[in-house]
Amino acid sequence: MILKSYTKIFIGIFFICLNSVSAVAQPSDTTELERVFILLKLTNVQQLDSNIWVDLKYSTSDNFLKSNVYGGLTRAYLHPEVASKLVDAQKILSDQKPGWHIVLLDATRPLSIQKIMWDQINVPNTERSKYLSEPRYGSLHNYGAAVDVQLLNENNQLVDMGTPFDSFEKLSYPIYELEYRRNGQLSEAAYQNRIFLRKLMNQAGFTSITTEWWHFNSCTRKEAKKRYTLVHSHFLKDYEVPSPEPNFLSNSDSEGLVFRVQICTSGKPKELTWHKLNHQADFKYFHEGLYKYTSGAFKTLEEAQNHKLKMWSFGFKGSFIVPMYQNKRISIKDASEILQ
Ligand SMILES: [Zn+2]
Repeated sequence: MILKSYTKIFIGIFFICLNSVSAVAQPSDTTELERVFILLKLTNVQQLDSNIWVDLKYSTSDNFLKSNVYGGLTRAYLHPEVASKLVDAQKILSDQKPGWHIVLLDATRPLSIQKIMWDQINVPNTERSKYLSEPRYGSLHNYGAAVDVQLLNENNQLVDMGTPFDSFEKLSYPIYELEYRRNGQLSEAAYQNRIFLRKLMNQAGFTSITTEWWHFNSCTRKEAKKRYTLVHSHFLKDYEVPSPEPNFLSNSDSEGLVFRVQICTSGKPKELTWHKLNHQADFKYFHEGLYKYTSGAFKTLEEAQNHKLKMWSFGFKGSFIVPMYQNKRISIKDASEILQ
């Protein structure tokens, strides 16, 4: 028993330490937006490869909105798979053009900020989609699956691409490049630089679009929706709202009336990472503002009673029986009426 108690204390200290380490690891200038990215396990690109330069244009007023919509955010975050592709692109670039850098101008952008940008564009509603993906359709930036990039040469000068980033004149559309090159509006050097950037990004697994030379996607929207988390808000509190729907951990028998043994209650779902709970809990439900974890599903009170004692012996001393009907918690009185 003493050994068990020490093990529990050790596990407790271990998790407290883990939390402290992650808190200490965040620099003092970490903004709420950056904390959202960290919470969603997105990757700080420069931490992977400091050869990639970051110059977030939406953290300045040097963008098409002429307004800072990212606050003090200085570090760029992407889905880990996308960040890894960008590192590959930088490696290819360093091999081909030593001393050159990818400059990341925009990476993950919460949908909530996309909406703010949509509202701020000073053009008629019908014209807005020329400047920005409509929030109701979303953008791959909202999943950390798109990047806006530029190149910096060995003399630390931005490479000529024919237009600045975020220029919405047709000269910036890759689809019209050949035409503009032919009539001289796009210089041969700028044309070749765009081809070089596209080839580089394609080799690393990105695809280009027809309307912005700086924008590259890592996958399709369909794939992103399926596999990545949508960064819907830039406020931490919006990620703390628990889902009102029950979340099933297994397909345990839940039809009709069952008795479950409640072994743990938590304000946040993260406690499931505790290995012992992870092994024993097979059902989670949301009730009166809390996540509640249960073990087993039994048709009779006697079986549930035996399981409760077993859970007690595993250290879940506060365990008790909860009757549930169609996965909803009900009172003992209602349960006994159903049984009759
Ligand atoms: Zn973009």
